[in-house]
Formats: sequence, C-alpha cells, structure tokens
Amino acid sequence: MRRCVVAWFLISKSTIVKHYTIPIFVPELACPNRCVFCNQHSISGCQHQPEPEEVREIILEHLKTIPEKDTHIEIGFFGGSFTGIESELQERYLAVANEFLIKRWFRLRSTTAASGVNTKVISIFNYHSWWLSAVETTTQRADETAISSGLEITAPKKDSTSKTSDYGSGTGWPRLRLSARRSQAGSTTFKVHGIRLSTRPDYIDDEVLDRLKRFGVTTIELGAQSLDEEVLRLSGRGHTVADVEKASALIRSSGFELGLQMMTGLPGDTVEKSIHTAKRIVELGAHCTRIYPTLVIRGTELAARWERGEYQPQTLEEAVEISSKLLEIFREGNVEVIRLGLHPSEGILDGSELLAGPFHPAFRELVETHRWKEKLLPLIEQQPQGSNIRIPVPANELRFAIGHDSSNRKMLESHFIKVEFVVDDIPKSELPLIITDKRLPLPAKNALKNIGNPQYLQPDGFVYKSISGHSDIFMCKSDEGLVVAPGLPDEIRDKLSNAGVRFFIGESNPGKVYPDSARYNAVVTSEFIIHNLKITDPVLFEAFPGRKHLHVNQGYTRCNLIPLDKNTFITSDKGIEKVLIAEGKEVLYVDPKPVKLRGHKYGFFPGCCGVLNDELLISGSLAFHPDKERIETFIRVSGFRMRELYQGELTDVGGIFCFSNK
Ligand code: SF4
Repeated sequence: MRRCVVAWFLISKSTIVKHYTIPIFVPELACPNRCVFCNQHSISGCQHQPEPEEVREIILEHLKTIPEKDTHIEIGFFGGSFTGIESELQERYLAVANEFLIKRWFRLRSTTAASGVNTKVISIFNYHSWWLSAVETTTQRADETAISSGLEITAPKKDSTSKTSDYGSGTGWPRLRLSARRSQAGSTTFKVHGIRLSTRPDYIDDEVLDRLKRFGVTTIELGAQSLDEEVLRLSGRGHTVADVEKASALIRSSGFELGLQMMTGLPGDTVEKSIHTAKRIVELGAHCTRIYPTLVIRGTELAARWERGEYQPQTLEEAVEISSKLLEIFREGNVEVIRLGLHPSEGILDGSELLAGPFHPAFRELVETHRWKEKLLPLIEQQPQGSNIRIPVPANELRFAIGHDSSNRKMLESHFIKVEFVVDDIPKSELPLIITDKRLPLPAKNALKNIGNPQYLQPDGFVYKSISGHSDIFMCKSDEGLVVAPGLPDEIRDKLSNAGVRFFIGESNPGKVYPDSARYNAVVTSEFIIHNLKITDPVLFEAFPGRKHLHVNQGYTRCNLIPLDKNTFITSDKGIEKVLIAEGKEVLYVDPKPVKLRGHKYGFFPGCCGVLNDELLISGSLAFHPDKERIETFIRVSGFRMRELYQGELTDVGGIFCFSNK
C-alpha cells in the first residue's frame, strides 16, 4: 500500500501548526462510467481497494510518524467517488476514521425545567465545535446517535451539583461523557481533527450528507473539473454544471467545508472557459480547490483520441501559464489552492502510464515561478542595463521569486550586474485588520488588499444564507473592543488576538431567523448602545458599561446605521433617524433601495460601509445612488474622505469592520 503524508503549514499566533492529511485511496469503487481522461488505477497508483480493517492499519501507521504537538491531522478518502460506494461499506470506512477523531463533550440540556432527562436537545461537537448532530430527541435516541457515529456514551447521569458550572452553572444540565473505542485503536486515538473525502457532484443529496455528518466528515471535495457544459459533455463526465451548483449549495448549507476541484486542457476547453470555471468556483463559496492539468494516461478514452489525432494536450508552458492565472483568481477569492498538478504515481513518474500532457513533478513550483517572472520582467524594462538591483520578497515566497532552477535569478542576471533577493516581511499585524463578508465582490477584495489585512467571514449553519458572512451578525464593535458570538470562527478570533483587539464572547450564537439573528447587530458609541434592546445579547451591556441605552424598533441596527463619529451618523432607517435627531445628533438618511443584497429586494447603505481612520470605505460606487452628491457632501463636511472599493453597484456586505493600529 502506498504511503504518503501531505503536509502544509499555517502560522497561528507564534506557533507553526503543521497540517497532515492521511490519504486513503479508494479507487474506482463507484464509477458507473469512465471519464475520458480517467484510469483511476494509474492515477492513484493503487489498484487495491482496501478493507476497512486495512484502513485502520494505514491510519495507525501514519499516526506513528506524525508528531503530536502543533499538528493538524485529517484523514482523506481520495481516488474514487466515495459517496457512490455502497452505503454499508461507506459507513464501515467512516466508522474507522471516526474512531480517531478528537472528541469533545456532549452537552445535554432539558427543554423545560420539569421535563427530566428524557426530553433533550443534544449537541455533539467535534474538535472545531462544529455540529456533528443536533437533534431534539430522547436520551435513548441520543445514545443511538452517538453509538452509530462510532462513539459510546459512558455514565449518562443527571448532575445538578456545582460540577456542571463549566457547562452552565445553575442550569441543572446533565452531562454525558464520551469515550471512543480505545480497545480497537489503541493509544493513538483522538489525534485526528477532521475527515475529508472526494466525490462526484451527482452523488450528493440530503441522505448522503446526513450520513457524512453523523460520522464527523468535515470537508467534501467535488470533482467539478469544469463549469462549462460542453467541456463536461466532451469529457464524458456524465453530470451537468447544474449538478455542481446544486451539490455545492447543499454541502455549504449543511455546514461542511466545500472543495471544488478543476482541470485545465480538457477536450473543448479554452483559457477563457478555465477562467470562467475558476470564477464560478469562487462564487459557489468553495473553501479550497485543486487544479489538475489534463494528462493522457494509457488505457483511457483520451489516449485513444490522442492516438487518432483527435485530442491535443496542453504544452507544459500553456498549463503553467493558465494555472498561474487561476492561482491569482483563487488567491483573490480567498480559496485555498491545496494542490497544483497531479500527485504522481510510479507509472506516471517512470512514464509507463503517461502518454502525453503537461506533467512535471514540481508543477506548483513552476507555476509560482511563472507568477514571479511576470512581476520581475518589468524591472528589466524599467531599470538600466548593468545596474544593481535588490528585490524585497516575503520569506515564504523566496524560492519562487528566485525561481525553479534559479530561472528568475538567471533572467535578471542577464540584465543586471548584481541581483539580490532580500527577505522583507511586513508583519501583517502592522496593517489594519479588516473583517468583512467572503462574498465581497472580487475587485473590492483587491482594493482591500492594498489598504489592510482583509479577513473574510463565512461561518455556515448559523443564520440564513444572504447574511451568513456578515460581520455585523457576529460582532458588535465599539472603540474599546468587541463582543463576538461564541461561533465566530477560531481563525478570525486568532486574527483579532494577533491584532491586539480586545473582545468578549457573547452569551449565545445568532439564531437562524430574525430577531434572534440580530443579537449582535447593535451600534455602540462612546455615549450610546443603540439597538432593539429586547433582543440584545446581555454581554454587550456588561462589556460596554456607562452608556445610555437607546431603544430603536429596528433589530438590524448596525445594518442600518454607521456612526462617523459620536455626533454624526448615516442611517437607512427612518425610526433610527428620529431617535438620534431627538438626541441632538447630525443624521443623514440614505434611501436603501439602490443597495444590492443577494436574495432580497434591497440591502442597506450602512451595510456597505466601514470606517478606517478618517476614511469611509464603501463596497461599491455612489455613482449607483441617485443621492450621490448629497451623500458625498455630508461625508466631506463631516471631515471624512470616501473610498469606493470598486466601481460597481452598492453592495450590502454586513459592514466592513476595520481595526486600525493608529
Ligand atoms: S468520476 Fe472520477 S473516478 Fe469516476 S471515472 Fe470520472 S474521474 Fe474517474
């Protein structure tokens, strides 16, 4: 059995966390047809379909080689179409993987004070506090749910003593403790943080997702390959673009991380179609992607077409060039590119299986080298021949800047006498931290990159989709700090800590629908807490004391109100305007109707805005609002400048939260 560990790094606070994926190859177990490019046996290098018992051994063997400290470990089922496998076998594979997941506590809460232990809302969390299962059920059902997830409950008993204080003192919540099957997996259990798998878009439905959720799967990657109908058809994929879109939406709304893999150089593909595919992958909300240039593998339909002269693969240069463009799109769209180029099997490496196509064992390095070459080329035109040059480069980009085989250095040395690459990292913490919706339009994301350290929010499973990435749903900001929802993702909390932003954790998460979705949507100035005070998370009052509490009927207060300073406000709500004018404040009312918010008739103007020092950042252009001049004048007279992040429609993104270190 082939063994390889895929590793990458993440800097978290001052610790380097190394990521590992333990790959389990399940080749061609479920494919009804063969895509024209695919011979899974050659690609995965694995002709053997492992028994669940072997899967356990593979995981145990890998775990022996992975350090315990500062690691993030996932088990990945790759190679075939996992969810097309017979459901019983899927469950056996997943049950094995689930044994190794790090488990947390059950929290079991009585729905009424008098209901005793039988009627419960039970929550099962995995390592990320991500919902494994949330069912209204009886204790007995809860036991079944847990056990079928590969978990066992020990000693379920009501505990009304002070020991419950960790989980809600005084609530009388009983507690259940989980234990995993140590007897089977031995001392190496509880090391794995997540399970990922790959499958076809047309093998996803609610039943499939329920099963994956029950077993603690965290990431689902779909082989989208192209989002062009003709390319899919000519490649024999047997699914449509609509299948990819539907499956992506289901996966995201069920709370999984979504991966969408794509290929370049497929039959009928063009550069434009590949770029379109990448842009759609960003729009569909993928967390990660893989880019695979098409290779001609022995035994495939594509090989037959190539031999008949009906298919011409990309050259290596063409594949590198288009991949470099795609990489740029994904980086701008905040989609992690976890693989560039096929992971080679022996048959591909020694050429016995590979007939033609742009294969290179260091394909990613070639692509990154190409990106740097594009940046460095203008220097040759701009600087006189025979001069010296120093090029500042971030440490993690140094080898790409110098280039594969030092190609970029050599290129520069043909023009300059002395070429020096200097590591020059501007610590991200010195740039203002900016938090906003992941669905901020791409050109606006580009603009944000130039003025700060943007971080994008898109937690799934809390509120309805159109506002699920809105900062003002998860955070309430004042000059002294923040109150954030408990479910605000860890990576955003880390960024806040690193930027030195003080924050408190609120009492409960935003609920699915209004008014529960608006618990944090208040506006806090040095004088006021302005909100519909019936729904405000109580921690806000504790965190921001000494202020007058101003009640307004509009629960989505921050969506509708932005303070420029303590005396000057912009609002899209007449009720809020009235309350603030009564307090003697300067208020500009902006008609919300020209503001776009996907899924709604319109959004709100303050939802497009954020204040960074003396600038009002706006997602979109005032050219798209009939009151452009009046709004511009108010902002200018208030002593603020205006920065339109892109020249498009005003788009409500739930506010742009800026944390300046000035
Ligand atoms: S769906 Fe995947 S595994 Fe099946 S034939 Fe196509 S590429 Fe191969």
